[in-house]
Amino acid sequence: MFKKNDTSLTGQILADLKKPVGSFEKKTPNNVANSNASRGNALNRHGNNSNRPNQGQRIQPQVANPGNANAPMLGFVSASNKQAPKVSSQNIPGANHAGANNRHASSGRPQAAKKRSLPVRKPSSNRKPMMQGNPAGDHLRITPLGGNEEVGRNMTLFEYGGDIIILDMGLQFPEEDMPGIDYIIPNTNYLKGKEKNIRGVIFSHGHLDHIGAAPILLRELNYPPIVGRDLTLAMIKRKMDDFETNSASQLKTIRVNTVADKIKLGKFEIEFFDVEHSVMDAVGVIVKTPDGTVIHPGDWTMDSNPENLERVTYSHLSKLPAPRILMLESLGATDTRISEKTESDMYVNLNELVSSAQGMVIIGTFSSQIKRIGKIIEYADSIGKKVALDGYSMKMNIEIAKELGYVKNFKNTQITVNEIHKHPRNKVVVICTGAQGEGNAVLSRIVNDEHRFIQVQKNDTVIFSSSIVPGNERTVQRLKDDLYRKCDNVIHSDILDVHTSGHSNAHDIKDVLRQIQPTFFLPVYGNHYMLKEAGKLGEQVGIKKENIFVLDNGNQLEVAENKARMLAQKVDTSYVMVDGLGVGDVGEVVLRDRQLLAKDGMFMIVVIIDSKTKKIVGTPQITSRGFIFVKENFDLVNATKRVVEKIIKEKTSAEVSVNWEYVKNNIREAVGSFLFTKTERRPMILPVVIEV
Ligand SMILES: [Zn+2]
Repeated sequence: MFKKNDTSLTGQILADLKKPVGSFEKKTPNNVANSNASRGNALNRHGNNSNRPNQGQRIQPQVANPGNANAPMLGFVSASNKQAPKVSSQNIPGANHAGANNRHASSGRPQAAKKRSLPVRKPSSNRKPMMQGNPAGDHLRITPLGGNEEVGRNMTLFEYGGDIIILDMGLQFPEEDMPGIDYIIPNTNYLKGKEKNIRGVIFSHGHLDHIGAAPILLRELNYPPIVGRDLTLAMIKRKMDDFETNSASQLKTIRVNTVADKIKLGKFEIEFFDVEHSVMDAVGVIVKTPDGTVIHPGDWTMDSNPENLERVTYSHLSKLPAPRILMLESLGATDTRISEKTESDMYVNLNELVSSAQGMVIIGTFSSQIKRIGKIIEYADSIGKKVALDGYSMKMNIEIAKELGYVKNFKNTQITVNEIHKHPRNKVVVICTGAQGEGNAVLSRIVNDEHRFIQVQKNDTVIFSSSIVPGNERTVQRLKDDLYRKCDNVIHSDILDVHTSGHSNAHDIKDVLRQIQPTFFLPVYGNHYMLKEAGKLGEQVGIKKENIFVLDNGNQLEVAENKARMLAQKVDTSYVMVDGLGVGDVGEVVLRDRQLLAKDGMFMIVVIIDSKTKKIVGTPQITSRGFIFVKENFDLVNATKRVVEKIIKEKTSAEVSVNWEYVKNNIREAVGSFLFTKTERRPMILPVVIEV
């Protein structure tokens, strides 16, 4: 566990907070303009210039259709709960409480139909053809479709005797060089035509890098039965209904009631074990086949003093039938610090801050930090303070957790944000999203004085009960700067232990390897370097090098007769990018256009030609976005117009019919090199020729 200093590769990687809560629904004007320009370019490439702009055509930003406006963005935070309270099946919306082994369609909540056209997976230009048919052999075959070269889009296939099961269907947030992309999902080309062989999809827990792709992929795979604990299933169902009305009613669910449950999925026998992780209802998975036993904790951490729980151990797993194949999430493989922070200490610190605060307390945390939020509410109740939650995903998660009975309902303690003013300031605790500095999330709005009901004052206490998701460091620093200007009591993990992470470190990895004593060790769910380092830890505790396999996405490991070998072929795992409602329709060409536009902008030239004389009517019109400000660069613009006029004059004549594609290419090249000599920038050049 990354207890000492959570700014490293801590648990909260890939939290929803990496992207703002609204990131699914809101495009920045830049992105909108970019994608429009991109469309313009595509139009242009196909020679479709039937538009007749009078003046320089202006690119009007349009509001793109929101992708998943209501998607609850579940965060990644620390709270574990091995003792999920028993729940009655009646009060869980959409959750199916058939016992293990008993699957049947659950009843989704009746909802008013939402008007939303469904995303359609379109052939992507960057998608490689399926590498091979690979009829599932009789032997156990393990294929990671995602999560083995990155943190995110976790998804693993297990094949045996013609049956297929899947573990997790996560999403990945885009890289910086993927403008406008909302998220990336695992590529399921390999499963095309094999849908009927899929016996079930097991979800280890409810973080977005494990369930985020479920709404799209479950539908694509004809809704195979899903397996998980209550909170995980409820989160998936909520995501599905947010994504497509009533789609959750299509789901067949197999509920994991306790870790003693055993279920059969085709020829696979599935068992479970306790893990500690930062979201409630995380569960470890055992996949039994005659060829070997796979042990997969999902995400996990170790806490020497977990709150209200017994310490989880793994040594009983060493008694499972050999060969034992341990697939171990190894995010913390490079963290060798000895951790001292524990969950119990963290609660002591949080409670102390809440009780001693002179003003309002504002706690920023991850929205999936359900247990922690519940604990704070409970403590506030005990000392007579009120709690207001703010942030869509946080309110949603707590609502689900209350329905499941995981969080107690303190009616007199919980208030809404618009009721804060009715209470003395020092009696109010606000728990909100946005601790990653996401532009439109609650904490940023508070800091920027854009929140309708909450303003920070000097004697308030602001607590960051979260780690910084890698990539967000600078944004969080700026948020802290702004807060320190407005408030004298800003507390974060560098100062006091007010957060514990959901992931293990190098010591924990070695500890678990010693406890489980696997035959084969497969580090998973992390970047390649993390997995390689985890492999070295395996060697240090005595696992033979030849029994350690660092798989890339798409590699296939076959286990038979106590031997494991990597197959020569690799299955297609190229990116499937989701942008708004489009799944897989943004390929490399569109992405390259966006990168170009983001880098140097665009430069559009509209030329109106008299069809008889082939002479330019008026002068060429220039429009630019993100390149130069036309009004301040008349000389350059006028010089560029001369270049265009010269090309038209040279490449056309009134006597012969003109190949306008050829002329436009000439304009593109000539203007491109002219602008480069003048500016050393390479904007996207969009010539439009209109004959009248
Ligand atoms: Zn997780």
